[in-house]
Amino acid sequence: GCDSFCSYCIVPFLRGKPVSMPLKMVLKNLSNLIDENEVVLTGIHLGKWGKDIDMSFEDLMLAISKENFPFRIRLSSLEAKEITKNVLEILKEMDNFCHHFHIPLQSGSDRILKLMKRNYDKTFFKNKIDEVRKFFPNACIGIDVIVGFPGEDEQDFLETYSFLQDLPIDYMHIFTYSPREGTEAYNHKNLVDKDTVLIRYQKLKELNDVKRKFFIERFLNRDILCIPDKKIGSGYYRALSREYIKVIIKDKIPEREFRAKLINTDTLEAVIAN
Ligand code: SF4
Repeated sequence: GCDSFCSYCIVPFLRGKPVSMPLKMVLKNLSNLIDENEVVLTGIHLGKWGKDIDMSFEDLMLAISKENFPFRIRLSSLEAKEITKNVLEILKEMDNFCHHFHIPLQSGSDRILKLMKRNYDKTFFKNKIDEVRKFFPNACIGIDVIVGFPGEDEQDFLETYSFLQDLPIDYMHIFTYSPREGTEAYNHKNLVDKDTVLIRYQKLKELNDVKRKFFIERFLNRDILCIPDKKIGSGYYRALSREYIKVIIKDKIPEREFRAKLINTDTLEAVIAN
């Protein structure tokens, strides 16, 4: 669950307060997964893990890091405020941690962030991304953004666009605002018209394509650590890198994590590295 009550979100009403799986159970469940190549730690509000049991997300990651599990570990989304220096230090020491962060932003306008009841402003968010980059220069960093929140005017959108343009991130999940009955935002009167929302969505989508391309190009002719994903027909396999790049490989691929070299950034073709 979640008790943050962002003004547009129905989750706290439906799921109630966050409840943490006890640490012992987390570790036991993970130890049952040793045949897996990758495990994703996930939750409605993952970074709040432990708050209800006098522990913290930091404690969780420290305990997991000490176990040296044979699979690699990926984190689902984490709120900016929950990515502390201590958490980054622990993750940095983990050989099996996938350098991939998904950090919800929602808007690049401080006025809209306030209306959304997000508990940070864009300066805080930018500083957090810079801090993550300092620890993980080549990590894949993605964000969530909502366009068309009630009251989002042209100036707010332009601020969001230029903020995202300059932000050192690699991809965006873009959502158009959809009202949820029972939330505070549901009662906001000044809705953004549908055509404007779609135009804003499209503009961010184009920006996302540029960022994604730029990110992938960083890995051209470099080795990346991949795991098999699935066979995609006529002798081709798809594999997933730690940075969440889905590469295509001709030839049978190993069953456990292996090194691959990305050779084409358009087709995402890679070869098994020696
Ligand atoms: S958007 Fe996320 S943090 Fe905000 S209330 Fe919903 S689940 Fe909680």
